[in-house]
This record gives sequence, structure tokens and C-alpha cells, in this order.
Amino acid sequence: MADTVTVEDLEFDRQHIWHPYTSITNCYEMYPVTGAEGVRLTLADGRQLIDGMASWWSAIHGYNHPELNEALQRQLGKMAHVMFGGITHPPAIRLARQLLDVTPALLQQVFFADSGSVSVEVAIKMAIQYWVATGKPAKKRLLTVKKGYHGDTFAPMSVCDPEGMHEVFSGMLLDNVFVEAPQCGFHDDWQEEHIAEFKVALDKHHQAIAAVILEPIVQNAGGMRFYSPAYLKRVRELCDDYQVLLILDEIATGFGRTGKLFACEYADISPDIMCVGKALTGGYMTLAATLCTQQVAHTISNQGVLMHGPTFMANPLACSVASASLELLQAGHWKAQVEQLSITMEACLAPCRELANVADVRVLGAIGVVELKQPVDMKTIQPLFVNEGVWVRPFGKLIYIMPPYVMEQEDCQLLCKAIYQVITKIKN
Ligand SMILES: *Cc1c(COP(=O)(O)O)cnc(C)c1O
Repeated sequence: MADTVTVEDLEFDRQHIWHPYTSITNCYEMYPVTGAEGVRLTLADGRQLIDGMASWWSAIHGYNHPELNEALQRQLGKMAHVMFGGITHPPAIRLARQLLDVTPALLQQVFFADSGSVSVEVAIKMAIQYWVATGKPAKKRLLTVKKGYHGDTFAPMSVCDPEGMHEVFSGMLLDNVFVEAPQCGFHDDWQEEHIAEFKVALDKHHQAIAAVILEPIVQNAGGMRFYSPAYLKRVRELCDDYQVLLILDEIATGFGRTGKLFACEYADISPDIMCVGKALTGGYMTLAATLCTQQVAHTISNQGVLMHGPTFMANPLACSVASASLELLQAGHWKAQVEQLSITMEACLAPCRELANVADVRVLGAIGVVELKQPVDMKTIQPLFVNEGVWVRPFGKLIYIMPPYVMEQEDCQLLCKAIYQVITKIKN
């Protein structure tokens, strides 16, 4: 089987295949990738790119990892898939045990979902069903903050930043309550004033609110903002005061990315419901999970059933590779690797602060962000990165990287230097 990509192939792709957030008729160049090894992607023409994106937060151990490959191959020899209704299997049981081991102790039940967005759908259903089962069916809305991102299906879209998806689908989305994004930065001193608007909203709407949903500490695709653990701590307290559940979406932050295994550990709190995805399988396959407390699970279950069940729920291949990925994490040096990446990015992205078109540079864990003053033009900036030998995919004003944890210091330095070079070349 040839792994070459012809001009005709690319033309076919352009005309017939949707890529994420693209137009078929006004689409820019696609880069054909034919292999990936460690932290490098190989293009069809043989060029290699240092990958700054870890395939959207997920490939934390790097590509073509022998142990992850082996886990998949081993499971493939037994069974690729079997339905999960009325049937269970060792890969799911094993993975659930591991997940309960590493997540906050109060989380005791696992629902396997097929993507991050679906795990958020399930979290929202859990919250609504919980209050129905408690005799408070009026509690159906969600309270969240602006600049958030929770996925692309309808319920998650209805808690994404209102300036993102909401316009196109206005009138079709759930009617949720939004307050300003947290204004207290990760390192800022806490003032009670920072939670005032959130508290007012809870006070006003709590009888109609099932849950607060937040990305803990790092708001990802909605703005790449880092906020104070004190904010999250206060949110937990207020949720308890007002009898509202707390859903934490750890899909991007989970499995070490922020410097803690889960970002909620910064605030030393536990949610009632938690979503994980992205890095769960080490970037190999799509799999996510919604975890909840016994209180939530038993309350729903005493009244009936949780109304969800995807066809490919708990796919054995995905569960096996996720298990192997968690084992690698636990046996490995993720914490030291993330700390080293953090130090390297701090040092090597710092010169960007001096550039006229840069508004801010910030780093937390293995996440590096350069915020520009003007949105980038994707058509011109993407080839500039490729020419520098790196894969970085900005959005809006944000050039950001979240490398595989296994990236060597020199590669991380090259990556940061490439960002600096590219910013000096774009005119804003
Ligand atoms: C990526 C992401 C999702 C959606 O996950 P998909 O697997 O793309 O559906 C939800 N929440 C957060 C915080 C994410 O980063």
C-alpha cells in the first residue's frame, strides 16, 4: 500500500473532505502527514516537523510508542469491539479501576463515552437527572463563565463562550447563565470581589440551576486563560451553599498537562462530576469518560436509569491503549518532564514579550501561550511555521503550544524559537 500523496489526492481532499472548522470552497493548504515518531511528524515530501500541538493535547507520550502499540496489538488479537449493553470486558474493568485510582477519591462511578463532547453531554444529563430524582425538576439550567470551551455538540455548545458558536445557532441552544470569565490570574492575589458576579448569579438563579460547569484553572480553546485556584475553591464552596452540582471539564487539563495530574488538585477540591478525554488514550484513539460521585450515581439509579449508551461505548481497543497510557504516566516522569517544559517555555518564549505585536506571553505546566494584539491570518502563518520545521496551529490571536511530555529540551527550544521567528515575519 503506497503512502505517497499525489497532487490529485490533495485536490480530492480539498474538494470532498471536511476538516475541522473549514470551508470546502475557501480552504487553505492541507499538509499530508504520512508518519509520526516521538515528537516529530513526517510530511509526504519527507520533511519532519517538531510537533507543538501533541495532536490537540492528546499525544502526551509521543507518537508510535512501542508500549502503546503493543497494548493495542495485544487487544486486537482478542477482540476489537463488543457491545457494552449486558456485556462487560477486562479492558473496561481495568481502565475504570485505574481511573478511580488517579482521580479525586469522591468520584466512584465511570461512564465511558466516545468523545469529549459526548462526555460533557453525559455530565449534563447526569446533573439534570440527579435533580429530577431529588424531586427538584426545575433545576435544569447550567451556570458557567465566558471564554469557556466544552465541545461541539449542542449541549456543550450551549456552555461555550457566547461569542464563539452562539451566533450561528442562536435560538437553538439551551438557555444557560453566563458570568464574566475569571478575572483573577493564576498568580494574582485573591480578592472576594473576583467571585462577586458569580455569587450574584447563583443567588438569583440557583433554583433553576442543575450544575456549574467549568474548565478548572485553564480555559482552553475559548481563550487559553489561566485563572486562580482560589476562584475554583470558592466556586466549590458556593455550589455547596446553593445546592448546585459542580461539573469539572478536565478534558484538556487532565493527565498532567497543567503540572498536576488533574487541574482541580491546585484548588484541592473534588467535583461532583468530571469529564476526561483527549490525553486519556495517549492520543491513540477517541475515548472519554464521565466520572461522578456515589451520591450522584445512586440518586439517579434509585429512581431509574442513566439515559445514555453509545454504540461503541468502552471500545476494548481504546480502553486497552488508555490503560497502557495511564501505566506509562504512573511509571514515568511526567511531573519532571512537564516542569522542565515549563521552565524551557518560560525562558524561550520570553523574548516574544519584546515584539510589538505581542500582547502577552504566559506559561503554565506544559502549556505555552503567546497572545498577539491582532488575530493571525491562517493562510499566511501556517506555511511560515512549516518552513521553520514545526507544527503549531494558532487560532484567533493565540499562538499556543502543548508539546508531548517526552519532548527534549533542545526540541522545545527550537519550537519556541520558531514561534519567535514567525511572529517577527507577520505584519499586524
Ligand atoms: C477538546 C475539548 C472538548 C471536546 O472534546 P472532543 O473529543 O473534541 O469532543 C471538551 N472540553 C474541553 C475542555 C476540550 O478541550
